[in-house]
Amino acid sequence: MNTGGAAVRTGRFAPSPTGPLHAGSLVAALASWLDARAQGGRWLVRIEDGDTERCLPGLGERILAQLAACGLVPDATPVWQTQRLARYEEALAALVAAGLAYPCGCTRAEIDDALARQGVVHARHQERVYPGTCRDGLHGKPARAWRFATHKVDADVSWTDRRLGPQQQDVTREVGDFVLRRADGPWAYQLRVVVDDAAQHITDVVRGEDLTDNTARQILLQRALGLPTPRYLHAPLVRGADGEKLSKQLGAAAFDTDTPSAARAELSKAARVLGLRAADPTDAPADALARWVPEWAALYNPPP
Ligand code: GLU
Repeated sequence: MNTGGAAVRTGRFAPSPTGPLHAGSLVAALASWLDARAQGGRWLVRIEDGDTERCLPGLGERILAQLAACGLVPDATPVWQTQRLARYEEALAALVAAGLAYPCGCTRAEIDDALARQGVVHARHQERVYPGTCRDGLHGKPARAWRFATHKVDADVSWTDRRLGPQQQDVTREVGDFVLRRADGPWAYQLRVVVDDAAQHITDVVRGEDLTDNTARQILLQRALGLPTPRYLHAPLVRGADGEKLSKQLGAAAFDTDTPSAARAELSKAARVLGLRAADPTDAPADALARWVPEWAALYNPPP
């Protein structure tokens, strides 16, 4: 078919195999699948096992089987990040060559000290805004991480979320020079996700709202690497009774896709979170999915 040169719309679900599929991650999977189908596009899966320390063996396969039980089958062979480490090397090398990444030798305690000297009190559990100590060199310390040099680019990023509307973040001020790789090996999520979304030709990132805050960093990396910026839609989260994001443990409790009716019931709960109708009790997962496509299109992808 001649698409007039327009890119095939392509979405993806990118779970980290740190636990099985659960109520929360199914919402992101369903939302990204419906969005791709509503645009007549492709839906891909990427197993984000690049953070080898936190990923458990066998869980990537388990997630794929749970998705299939829900009728969510990717249009191409899933990508595993552990097979893509050479690409992350290339991207970091390109950033270093462009003067946009530098080695940092600071420990957490040193970062806290530097922040305290600037009068910034670092709240527990809050991310530290890196104060840029190693921008001009390691000062004889061993490298502990590679960081993105936000001060070398225009780091005040504005973008529009398809659900949440206009967003803005000054990455230097609100996040600082973020980590791309730890010197002992692991690649940071931000670098992996940007390299892989581009390699998979993703045009539409649809994922949970808890990831919204990462988008500005990812846009900065796309610009620095000369990669296209996809459209973003951050979907509602499953909330517990207290209104908080459901934890992995709670979300996984009693999550069951072992039979078609159990899978339909889980899909139906996920659909309600997205503002779609509940599935008909006689629907097979595939029938429920087909019914939700036009509903999704009306809510999130209305014709111009
Ligand atoms: N792997 C990430 C997670 O499970 C999601 C990445 C993304 O969708 O950008 O939280």
